[in-house]
Amino acid sequence: MRTSYSALETLRQCPQKYKFQEIDKIKTPKSKEAVFGTLIHASLKFLFSRDPLYPSLDEVIANFRDSWRASEIANMTEEERSLYLAQGENILKRFYAKNQPWNFNVVDMESRFELSVTDPTTGTTHNIAGIMDRIDKPTDDTFEIIDYKTSRTMKSQEHLDSDLQLSLYHLGLLRRWPHIQASNIALSLYYVKHNEKITTARKSEDAKRVEEHVLATIRDIEARTTQNDFPPQPSALCDWCGYKAMCPAWKFMFMEHGTRTMEQKNIMGILTEYFDIKKETQKHAKRLAELQMDIKAYMDQEGLTRVFGDAGVISKTIQERYVYDYEKIRAVLETHNRLDIWNALLQPDDKKLKTIISSLPSPLKEQVLEARSIAKKFEVLTATIKKTFEEHAS
Ligand code: SF4
Repeated sequence: MRTSYSALETLRQCPQKYKFQEIDKIKTPKSKEAVFGTLIHASLKFLFSRDPLYPSLDEVIANFRDSWRASEIANMTEEERSLYLAQGENILKRFYAKNQPWNFNVVDMESRFELSVTDPTTGTTHNIAGIMDRIDKPTDDTFEIIDYKTSRTMKSQEHLDSDLQLSLYHLGLLRRWPHIQASNIALSLYYVKHNEKITTARKSEDAKRVEEHVLATIRDIEARTTQNDFPPQPSALCDWCGYKAMCPAWKFMFMEHGTRTMEQKNIMGILTEYFDIKKETQKHAKRLAELQMDIKAYMDQEGLTRVFGDAGVISKTIQERYVYDYEKIRAVLETHNRLDIWNALLQPDDKKLKTIISSLPSPLKEQVLEARSIAKKFEVLTATIKKTFEEHAS
């Protein structure tokens, strides 16, 4: 398989988006954020280009201004265009002030690489392609790979220390120039909106783990492709997804009321009735809890353990919960030569494991998850009731 880091990342974000993009090859117009990001990247490349001198700040700004004005972006008002332009100029001004190009030894920009990884179980070789925004050589022995980010959210240091993209870049550079010491490569994400760079590093032994992770993801893609298993995974990222109008998780919202088929019109009635009943059920559940409290208070006050209504009886019973001394239990079972019971007790517990996994730090969590496989699949419907303004306020 030939793939890229961005394809693997797309699969992680949303399998359905991966299918639209990588398998069905459906093209969508670039979002304004994506166009903005591409043009900022291009201007940063221009900033470090010597021809024969480095460009001045004014030339860098003019470069961005020209390309932004020439860009074609659908559904963008003049006001939005001006705001993005001002933001881009501001980013470049602040970047230039902190990163005067003559102070850096830039080795390569928009540097393409391709990594091959062989699956030992099948002998198949897979290729992962990528582009490193910038490679610097700050000293005789050290290198730095820099990836520019135009997103607002900055990853945490912990996240960066296990970030797959940077791990792949690290491996890509090591394969290209094997004489470099793994620990002599700094890996940085530069968040241009904040003019902030965060840096991490990798050890040579990390390479094996990265290869295993990539192979596990490729095997997952192959299995999903065989079963056509690419479910949508709605998240905050959907607002930036060009496939939203055709995505099964959102398509319904895009269907015009006037053009809906008879079945679609019927479903509106079914949905209304469903939510009416669901709301009623919730209201009843709340009232039941209140009534139970009143009944219990009355029984406590009168010293009663049972009360009788026309339609039934309510009894008050005491329930006990215990904690067990497992050491003692084991000792007793051992005395009676019944450690088989103890072993049965220690059977793996999926429910407990799931709770523990959710609290594990990265990359331990991902490695544990790689040991998981689907035993059974079933569909469930979940309903979320929209809150009214009053309910939100209360
Ligand atoms: S809209 Fe959201 S759920 Fe649908 S494909 Fe895009 S990212 Fe996935």
